[in-house]
Amino acid sequence: MQEVKEPNNGNNSNRPKKPLIYYYVIAMLILLVLNAVLFPTLNRGGVTEVGYNQFLDMIDSGAVKQVAYDEINSQYAFIAEIDGRPGVFVTGVWPNDGERLLEQLRSNPDITFSASIPTQANPIMEFLTNWVLPIIFFVIIGNLLSRYMMKRMGASGMGGLGNAMQFGKSGAKVYVEDAQTGVRFSDVAGQEEAKESLKEVVHFLHEPEKYAQIGAKLPKGVLLVGPPGTGKTLLAKAVAGEAGVPFFSISGSEFVEMFVGMGAAKVRDLFKQANEKAPCIVFIDEIDAIGKKRDTSGFSSNDEREQTLNQLLAEMDGFDGRKGVVLLAATNRPESLDPALLRPGRFDRRVPVELPDLQGRKAILLVHAKDVKLEGNIDWDIIARATAGASGAELANIINEAALTAVRRGRNAVKQKDLEDSVETVIAGAERKSAVVSESDKRIVSYHEIGHALVAAKQSNSAPVTKITIVPRTSGALGYTMQVDEGEKLLMSKAEILNKIATLTGGRAAEEFILGKENITTGASNDIEQATKLARALITRYGMSEDFDMVALETVSNQYLGGDTSLACSAETAAKIDDKVFALVKAAHKKAYQIISENEGKLHELASYLLEKETITGEEFMNILNKDEKTIS
Ligand code: ADP
Ligand code: MG
Ligand code: ZN
Repeated sequence: MQEVKEPNNGNNSNRPKKPLIYYYVIAMLILLVLNAVLFPTLNRGGVTEVGYNQFLDMIDSGAVKQVAYDEINSQYAFIAEIDGRPGVFVTGVWPNDGERLLEQLRSNPDITFSASIPTQANPIMEFLTNWVLPIIFFVIIGNLLSRYMMKRMGASGMGGLGNAMQFGKSGAKVYVEDAQTGVRFSDVAGQEEAKESLKEVVHFLHEPEKYAQIGAKLPKGVLLVGPPGTGKTLLAKAVAGEAGVPFFSISGSEFVEMFVGMGAAKVRDLFKQANEKAPCIVFIDEIDAIGKKRDTSGFSSNDEREQTLNQLLAEMDGFDGRKGVVLLAATNRPESLDPALLRPGRFDRRVPVELPDLQGRKAILLVHAKDVKLEGNIDWDIIARATAGASGAELANIINEAALTAVRRGRNAVKQKDLEDSVETVIAGAERKSAVVSESDKRIVSYHEIGHALVAAKQSNSAPVTKITIVPRTSGALGYTMQVDEGEKLLMSKAEILNKIATLTGGRAAEEFILGKENITTGASNDIEQATKLARALITRYGMSEDFDMVALETVSNQYLGGDTSLACSAETAAKIDDKVFALVKAAHKKAYQIISENEGKLHELASYLLEKETITGEEFMNILNKDEKTIS
């Protein structure tokens, strides 16, 4: 990959950069030296300590002009003229000599008594040392620091002081000519619609005349939106790889600067460069860092961010689309973007990059499987089906985990088993073989998991059980039951949701049945959370309850990031919803308990089988379940 840096940065980067501490050390050294050399004399200010006898001699010789008793230090301070120049002296007090000394001083008419004589330096010196010198030091240190920072921010070292204009260098990475990112459209799988959209952009950059002939204008800005890890950044890189034009890439957070106006200057610089290099592509990743809605509340406005955004808006209006500058941006928080960014003429084409479906997952797995050595026949369908809801990044991670597992197991190629285990590792956390689980806990977990599986199997409309395990996981789970749908499921019926809630309560129901209501355990906490969420969504978002009909009672605030919801109804309705949720979960729980108690024999048999084997497949489970049924009937 060939990267072109701005020429101005070149000369600086050769010079080794000195760390900040270097300047501190220098300043401290200067301070210490000055302190040692200068301050003793300054502080004492020519105050000389003399012996008591010398003091008496000086009185006799008529040198002493003024005397004061310094009570605090129990000493005499006096001013005497030596060689015609007055100086300040101090001397200790001779005990019981007070009376005689007073007589002696009195008899000398030249000497005045005063309340105090300053034993510090003269006031001007004092002022200098206390006020002027520190300020000078601060100015010097400040100067050094600012020079240092200018250098770091990529200002030219010319004349040492740097040039303020240089602060705003965009720092965008520039990829030029062919295939600099090394990523091609073929490396991006399962995002066919997004690729189509972007291929048009690439085509436009290759042959702008064709579009000009008809009079078609391409959108100035293309916004890639979707959950994290779905390949937005990857797609942008692929455009760069295919386009054969310069590609400027910068992350939104790089515009966020310490000083007001710097971000705006960076935007200006970026567009200036882009205009010079047109036709070209400018890609702003994670644009929400600067593109957030501007504050309307007035007080808590963020000047720097707003200025940067305003500059971006102005630049987008300013550049000529026909010249061939195409702007790409990516975000996973489209709802937080400023509406001004999304209006026609700016980012008016929105390309969704959603989580991959079954086919997409298989395609992504195949793309990444090219990077690892495989052994035997691999059934990618199984892996793809087991990973519903996984993003491209997670799928890439699964392949890598499988390769790591293969190495750990002393093999030099990846097998189907490695992949299946890796899926579990990514979904449920790695196995914690070292965890010590007591026999009684294991027994409870076995019953709990079989409870889930039994309730799932005994209801129609639920996904088949594929695996049950009581090996603890690093995620904290002591065991789990895996269910995988046969095919891709895009819609879920009300019956399916209700069955799922019942299945989730199945673990606790089994505990109740075996241990009694008093001895149920904390093992169901995650089940409870999921069941509650489902029951709530059924009422508030899917409009599946009789009472509330098709009214949206909850809104999803950020659809791509966790999907936090907020209630959109009155407090009374909220209370009614709660009642409804209780009733729903309670009914499901009751149904689960019923199923468990009707299948007591199988519960015991399956639980002890699981306890012995620790991990059983869906097949083993179904075999035992069905075999029993046949012997009974
Ligand atoms: P984001 O949408 O958060 O920008 P990225 O583009 O950074 O996601 O994806 C991270 C990684 O996940 C990629 O480098 C790639 O290895 C993998 N990945 C994600 N989506 C895909 C896809 N559709 N096809 C192939 N690999 C993908
Ligand atoms: Mg990204
Ligand atoms: Zn459970």
